[in-house]
Amino acid sequence: MLRLYNTLSHEKEEFKPIKEGKVGLYTCGPTVYWYGHVGNMRSYVFADILKRVLMYNGLDVKHVINVTDVGHLTSDADSGDDKMEAAASKEGKTANEISHFYFDAFRDDFHKLNLIEPFKWTWATEHIKDQISMIGILEKKGYTYKTSDGIYFDTSKFADYGKLSRKKIDGLEEGKRVEMGEKKNKTDFALWKFSGTPGERQQEWDSPWGLGFPGWHIECSAMSSKYLGKQFDLHTGGEDNMPIHHENEIAQSECAWGKKPWVKTWMHGAFLNIKGGKMSKSEGKIQTISELEKDGISPLAYRYFTFSAKYRKPLVWSEEAIASAVSSYKRLRNVIAGIENRAGVNKKYLKEFEARINDDLDMPGALAVLWKLVRDEKAEGKIGTIKKMDQIFGLRLLETEEVVVPEDVIVIAEEREKARADKDWAKSDELRDEIAAKGWSVKDGKNGFELEKI
Ligand code: AMP
Ligand code: ZN
Repeated sequence: MLRLYNTLSHEKEEFKPIKEGKVGLYTCGPTVYWYGHVGNMRSYVFADILKRVLMYNGLDVKHVINVTDVGHLTSDADSGDDKMEAAASKEGKTANEISHFYFDAFRDDFHKLNLIEPFKWTWATEHIKDQISMIGILEKKGYTYKTSDGIYFDTSKFADYGKLSRKKIDGLEEGKRVEMGEKKNKTDFALWKFSGTPGERQQEWDSPWGLGFPGWHIECSAMSSKYLGKQFDLHTGGEDNMPIHHENEIAQSECAWGKKPWVKTWMHGAFLNIKGGKMSKSEGKIQTISELEKDGISPLAYRYFTFSAKYRKPLVWSEEAIASAVSSYKRLRNVIAGIENRAGVNKKYLKEFEARINDDLDMPGALAVLWKLVRDEKAEGKIGTIKKMDQIFGLRLLETEEVVVPEDVIVIAEEREKARADKDWAKSDELRDEIAAKGWSVKDGKNGFELEKI
């Protein structure tokens, strides 16, 4: 039995899909105005583990991740600049160039982490019609009003507002100054923003309400429902998405579609923090997976690192913590490489492992079971069991690392082979030294030379 913690009920619940055997899963994706950092990636590893656990339980998962390429303002409320427009003017590029450049970088890192590709990446700017149509439905049903800067959702008309974070409208965002502008209630939010000065924005579209662009929240609601239906199983995001973005998504979707609950299970990943606070793009202190790789830290060692805490617990990023994960991951691979392969699966360990993953994705617990198995000298069926476990870990535990010989080293080795054929031993020795200086050793076999890393 798979149990998952549902933010909506504040409880671990038995997970049962709406349609037998099938799961609709939506993950709030990146805002592509800058690089995705190791903090963001923790949220995607969490969603990947969830997806793998659902698949392991025999479910057919349809996973959608959005790409926010318009409408996310510097404040999660409705003030500040559009992050995409601000990045475009800072870098002197078009918003389209910015979004594609940073999405490509994001997706490279996504693949390096062995995260399974979603069924679809949904780009906000490719779904403007769907968003306009959803706002139209809300307008017809009387949930919207107009101010001088846009079309807003009236949260006082949705009695359940705040049900995810369990706060009353009046108490929401207490202590924070909320820019009221012409809003009727401080929790009201923009569905459509007007462009303002003509020609000032790069990204703007015609709508029944005038030239403008969609709000960030309506993007996720319109795109998730388009591909997963007007009611679906699971929605994930980082914990910061919960009190505003997801609360607003619920309000507009339940009012537009008339289905309750719009999403059955809401799951939120805790943050990866740096000492002294959160790691965030807006704070400007970030590190990416590709940067780690340049420093010799493999992306899969980072993946291993994220399993050191349960997904609902904060995790602190430090050089020592990642270094320790790097060495544990290496050790684990080494121990596994030394295991003699015998057929079969160890049922006892596999059962223990399944109990951990099915208990709200307890990855530290699952990792402990794996270590216990590899250290148990008497255990049978180790390799078969590790193979099954790695369907969840995604750590490529049984794949041997591919060694790629650089092209220039091959060229020198070929030259050396020719020198040997010509019996020019002095030249052959010289070339052997040259190869060694590049970190390779050359051996002469029956079928020509072989190169090995020194
Ligand atoms: P963004 O690209 O800023 O819209 O964020 C993409 C995803 O990363 C969202 O689900 C955020 O909640 C999540 N996120 C942002 N910062 C962190 C962090 N430091 N740790 C974990 N998740 C994060
Ligand atoms: Zn979202």
